[in-house]
Amino acid sequence: MSETDVLVVGAGPTGLMLACELALRGVRCRVAEQRSEQPNITRAFAVHARTLEVLDARGLADELLARGHPVQEVQPAPGAVVDLRTLDSRFPLILMAPQSATEHVLEDRARALGVEFARGVRVIGLRQDTDRVLVDVSSGRTEEAAFVVGCDGAHSTVRRLLGVDFVGSQYETHIMLADVRLDRPPSETLFAAAGPEGVVLVIPFGDGWFRAIAWDRRRDRVPLDVPLPAEEMRDSVTRIAGTDFGMGEQRWSSRFLSERRQARRYRVGRAFLAGDAAHVHSPLGGQGMNTGIQDAMNLGWKLAAVVRDGAGAWLLDSYEAERHPVGAQVLALTDGFNRLVLGRSAVGRAARRMAIRTLLRVGPARRELVGRLTGIGLAYPRRRGEHPWTGRRMPDLACADGRVNELLRDGRFLLVDRTGAGTAARSVADASTAVRTVRCGGPAPQRFPAVLLVRPDGYVAWAAEDGEDVAAAAVSATARWCGRRVGAAGSDAGRGAPV
Ligand SMILES: Cc1cc2nc3c(=O)[nH]c(=O)nc-3n(C[C@H](O)[C@H](O)[C@H](O)COP(=O)(O)OP(=O)(O)OC[C@H]3O[C@@H](n4cnc5c(N)ncnc54)[C@H](O)[C@@H]3O)c2cc1C
Repeated sequence: MSETDVLVVGAGPTGLMLACELALRGVRCRVAEQRSEQPNITRAFAVHARTLEVLDARGLADELLARGHPVQEVQPAPGAVVDLRTLDSRFPLILMAPQSATEHVLEDRARALGVEFARGVRVIGLRQDTDRVLVDVSSGRTEEAAFVVGCDGAHSTVRRLLGVDFVGSQYETHIMLADVRLDRPPSETLFAAAGPEGVVLVIPFGDGWFRAIAWDRRRDRVPLDVPLPAEEMRDSVTRIAGTDFGMGEQRWSSRFLSERRQARRYRVGRAFLAGDAAHVHSPLGGQGMNTGIQDAMNLGWKLAAVVRDGAGAWLLDSYEAERHPVGAQVLALTDGFNRLVLGRSAVGRAARRMAIRTLLRVGPARRELVGRLTGIGLAYPRRRGEHPWTGRRMPDLACADGRVNELLRDGRFLLVDRTGAGTAARSVADASTAVRTVRCGGPAPQRFPAVLLVRPDGYVAWAAEDGEDVAAAAVSATARWCGRRVGAAGSDAGRGAPV
């Protein structure tokens, strides 16, 4: 029997990000992964702005940027251009980087932080009581942990063992994927062609290999176990894109079945689901890995706060309360893209394309779509009476000691004090080591609060305008969010706080 604080099942992007978050805060964490040597299949390429921001808040974005290629315009439909250059972010782009590169960056960080990996180990059983979870693995051992998180992908064993429904349906269309060499590669980083015959995407790995992805109406029902030879891929790409780009050697190919499903619950007692184990969608829009990484960002600091800092258990419930609606929104968005591009009826497709072109001409609608596509527009719910900035993404303001996303890199809460006197920052610094405090006098958005408590995942936990009581209110908010390490509020500080 081995024992740890948190057992993470699955070393895909979600499990790796979660392991990094836990280890950063000193939580003992083991990752059980069924693959021993072989790499995870690269499916994702698109890394969106919000994911780059959260990676920046851990000092990982620049490394990933160096491994990919930026794209600043996308076309969800012919004539409907989404220009990302005006995005209010340090990353006004979609980064095209193979999933293997993202995993590499995350695994290196996890190892540097001391995460233990158990590879070649498949989870096969799970039971829990009020104090612990016991997980049986294929080697015959049992892992004991205070919490377990199933980051074990679309066919999650953890989800099945917990008896959680995966509600939804399959898309009818099978996707064709192949890694190929091209003699005449497209000039665009992300090549996309859509027509009556289907859709083709071509994306570079950056090492001379390209990923070709095809939704071919003539072949979308070919059974998944039928091999996909190079000639078939070449034929599909040529018919849909009008060229085969000089397609030569093919090193790998597969047919994929796309689904739209969401776990009914993300938490059962001491067990959680994250990433594809919790939600799967159409690959159009490139949302799956991005959503999984952000699930991990949301859950990681909460588990750490409970395990290490004695934060109230309510914090763990807030994971499902915040992330389940986000998963549902992502499902709706990607389903919309799927209908737009792959819908069976040509008339329906044309009508939807017309609608999106019109939508993109209207400022608020365009901002809403871009916010959802990039993750920049995401906000968590706030309670009545809370400051309007509560739950919103914290802008990457320049403060005295650096940018907000640099100041968050040690994984602690950040108290940003923009008042002239700075009493909130001083009072919180005296009360707690769980919070970093900073004075910040530079430019900010209009109607921006005077004092903000920023969560480790970069969302505003609490905000207030300047006033007589602001320092005491900041200490009290810090105590509520950060647990017993905050002197002012005692060991049960988190209990009964909002979800
Ligand atoms: C064609 C295609 C293109 C895509 N493009 C994009 C894109 O551009 N952008 C994007 O964001 N997303 C994209 N996605 C989705 C993205 O690939 C997934 O959402 C992402 O891989 C999910 O990561 P994960 O870590 O949750 O799960 P996975 O990557 O599936 O990892 C799960 C891990 O768990 C392990 N495991 C499974 N069962 C067990 C067990 N019982 N015990 C131990 N280990 C286990 C597996 O071996 C695996 O390593 C695409 C998907 C497809 C199919």
